[in-house]
Amino acid sequence: MGLIVQKYGGSSVADAEGLKRVANRIVATKKAGHQVVVVVSAMGDTTDELLELAEQVSPMPNGRELDMLLTAGERISMALLAMAIGNTGHEAQSFTGSQAGVITTSTHGRARIIDVAPGRILDALKEGAIAIVAGFQGISQDTKDVTTLGRGGSDTTAVALAAALDADVCEIYTDVDGVFSADPRVVPAARKLKTVTYEEMLELAASGAKVLHLRCVEYARRYNLPIHVRSSFSNNEGTWVVKDHPEGDAMEQAIISGIAHDKSEAKITVVGVPDRTGIAARIFQAIADADINIDMIVQNVSAAATGLTDISFTLPKSEGANATALLHKIQGEIGFQSIQYDDQVGKLSLVGAGMRSHPGVTATFFACLADAGVNIEMISTSEIRISVICRESDLEKGVKAAHTAFELDSTGEEAVVYGGTGR
Ligand code: ADP
Ligand code: ASP
Ligand code: MG
Repeated sequence: MGLIVQKYGGSSVADAEGLKRVANRIVATKKAGHQVVVVVSAMGDTTDELLELAEQVSPMPNGRELDMLLTAGERISMALLAMAIGNTGHEAQSFTGSQAGVITTSTHGRARIIDVAPGRILDALKEGAIAIVAGFQGISQDTKDVTTLGRGGSDTTAVALAAALDADVCEIYTDVDGVFSADPRVVPAARKLKTVTYEEMLELAASGAKVLHLRCVEYARRYNLPIHVRSSFSNNEGTWVVKDHPEGDAMEQAIISGIAHDKSEAKITVVGVPDRTGIAARIFQAIADADINIDMIVQNVSAAATGLTDISFTLPKSEGANATALLHKIQGEIGFQSIQYDDQVGKLSLVGAGMRSHPGVTATFFACLADAGVNIEMISTSEIRISVICRESDLEKGVKAAHTAFELDSTGEEAVVYGGTGR
């Protein structure tokens, strides 16, 4: 008998039928002799709908109130799921993030988990009940206000709880059969990965493969907790996210494990910046002071005649207006010419540990993009990743071309997408 934490995403509990299907899966796990703790997301696209509603009453809603609103989504699904389980004759108790002991920082909209004190969950398990926990939410240690963990954050609730409870495994149930070599909604020939390492999954998640929340992978790696990503709509074995590829598998491992794409970033170019010591520092200090995360940066060589250069960087689209306003404020002080804002960019990333030992990956990548007519605007790399910025309208074409060029296309059946709207 073991302790299993299962997380069900929004598409798995999109309606009453979905809730009942998930309830049966949970009960089956319990009947197999395990203790079960379940983390659940808001039903279907509830979180997006609540966000739209908030925007209709206020274009810049207050962070505290927005978190209060969004956490209601998970409250609805947790209570309904507990009822559906109760209806099968098994006991389930639902808990908000705060009741489950999920303690966070106080930054609304992207709080980080500081600690999990799951006393009430352990009590429920002792009573023989199934514990259902609302994902994506916690309570701030300082302000005692309700917080959310960022979009997709229920995955992180699940892994953090699994670590705190010393669970044997954390199962993430979603609307595809596991982690694929690319998003199956874009590349039907994507193949399911048997295993993916924490290191590779971190890069994929950070590059836009939203199947797992980045923080949850960081957590799993820290506690060396295996994650099994699988579908709630099938009984197929999914993908194991683990420290190392099992021996034997590593030999067959492709050079590239996966390709991720991301449409959530925008590009800012500061045009005509004086090429002097300290200027770049001043620009990025202003951005950092506003708590804005930047991703790629490119600075051109300054033109000898003018001594001026251009600096481009990417950042989340949601921070675009804020960042351009900040830069305009320091324009006089720095003396740059203008700012260009472009939110029609896409980011395409190749990820694979095999890159370390195989030269030529970059050449193959760039050649296949050129053949597909995709122009590269910015480049960044890590030890096991190459990312490029291109036109957003070229992104999916680029993903498909790279998938084929690195011989990742499956020769078997097409990848199945069981549900969800892809929002
Ligand atoms: P959930 O609601 O279950 O949390 P998400 O929508 O957050 O589900 O994540 C699952 C989706 O992630 C899939 O439907 C798929 O479109 C997308 N996705 C992106 N990249 C990948 C990938 N490499 N492997 C699998 N799914 C991916
Ligand atoms: N409901 C939240 C979201 O849509 C959290 C999650 O699903 O993981 O982002
Ligand atoms: Mg998700």
